[in-house]
Amino acid sequence: MLNSIFNNLLNFILPNTCLACDEPMDPGSSYLCKSCYGKLEPYKETHPWQAEQIAGGTIDDSFSVYWFREGTAIQPLFHALKYQKIKKAGLMLGEEIGKLAASKNRNDIDFIIPVPLHKAKLRDRTYNQSEFIARGISNILKAEVINDAVIRSRFTPTQTRLNKAERKVNVSGAFSFNQKYAGKLRGKNILLADDVITTGATILECASAIKSAGCGKLCICSAAYAELKINVV
Ligand SMILES: [Zn+2]
Repeated sequence: MLNSIFNNLLNFILPNTCLACDEPMDPGSSYLCKSCYGKLEPYKETHPWQAEQIAGGTIDDSFSVYWFREGTAIQPLFHALKYQKIKKAGLMLGEEIGKLAASKNRNDIDFIIPVPLHKAKLRDRTYNQSEFIARGISNILKAEVINDAVIRSRFTPTQTRLNKAERKVNVSGAFSFNQKYAGKLRGKNILLADDVITTGATILECASAIKSAGCGKLCICSAAYAELKINVV
């Protein structure tokens, strides 16, 4: 009784509203109301570069949970995760990746590695959103998360305005494998995770650094996939 009065009062002072439509939500919902959550568009396609990357031996599989489309409910959710310190949104998205991985029989994953941020960027943002995504995946797959298995050794300018070829050059050699894990990861199956994949340039460069350590299967995944849109002026 007292508890429900307290919850009602709390909801009055700090209303639990949907990040996308701003409407009040059911007490059991977080970040998005049921209606907006239901409108998130599953990514059922295959990454356009997947076959080439598997044939080239960089990865064994790749998948994303949702389409990232501007103006849809996923945009405020990602904004909250990246810029408003709503880290639990990362856990929730990670759990969705974990469920998708399990449905693809990817229960053979030994370690989950988040794509790292450069330390200058980490200082600005104070946290790496992909680490929370990795923890969410781990809640489902029960595999250990290693946050520092790959080091972002070179600062790379933002990719927002770069095309596919420019992105590849931009991240070339940006990651190095942390040799202290060489023994631990040898022959083990790895799931490398990021928030959004677009051309795959960043995560594939990161995957190459891990592959050099002689791991077993290497799969890459993200909470969302975005098509590259460049305004050519
Ligand atoms: Zn809503």
